[in-house]
Amino acid sequence: MLLHIEPLQTCGKAMQTDIGLMQIDNETMRVRIETMATSNEAAQPCCAAEENADSTMTEKRTDYLSWDEYFMAVALLSGLRSKDPNTQVGACVASAANKIIGVGYNGFPWGCSDDDLPWSREGSYLDTKYPYVCHAELNAVLNSTVRDLHDCRIYVALFPCNECGKVIIQSGIREIIYLSDKYKDTDSVKAAKRMFEKSGVKCRQFVPERDSVLVSFV
Ligand SMILES: [Zn+2]
Repeated sequence: MLLHIEPLQTCGKAMQTDIGLMQIDNETMRVRIETMATSNEAAQPCCAAEENADSTMTEKRTDYLSWDEYFMAVALLSGLRSKDPNTQVGACVASAANKIIGVGYNGFPWGCSDDDLPWSREGSYLDTKYPYVCHAELNAVLNSTVRDLHDCRIYVALFPCNECGKVIIQSGIREIIYLSDKYKDTDSVKAAKRMFEKSGVKCRQFVPERDSVLVSFV
């Protein structure tokens, strides 16, 4: 079984093997599982231990994940844990030494059942998810194994909102790597960028160099 997490470019129409879309407001991210038997693509597992079982091989692999690919993939994988039916966002905090410090995804606070609070985006404020949901960046920072995140960087699928921007800045994180900036025209993102600029937090967009990362359970 192969788990495909594909980048935020247009992925074409969904395939029959799709298990769902990692949606950022109903677009762009496709997630699909396919079996080896039904795959039309050559299996290219990132962990290619089986493929490289030949003991005569002495050269290192050349198609290993870059650090950016690795941490962004962890962020996207974390997003799959979200119960939000419309928007699944994951985040991964990495240290200057390239160690994973924290991960998170959007969800309700601890003890608040995913079944009791609303996931709606429309209606009166208290009947929507907005007053209750914790964004991925907040959870990744709070879940971090160390308190001081100075010189860390955070990988996120979506450019942070202003509220997460405050958390990121105050945590000491110095760089944001994001996939999508689809809300760049909103006041929230404009405010976040204003704060990042004044605080010296660098922001750069992740540009994938491969179509997908495959995670196999078999
Ligand atoms: Zn946020």
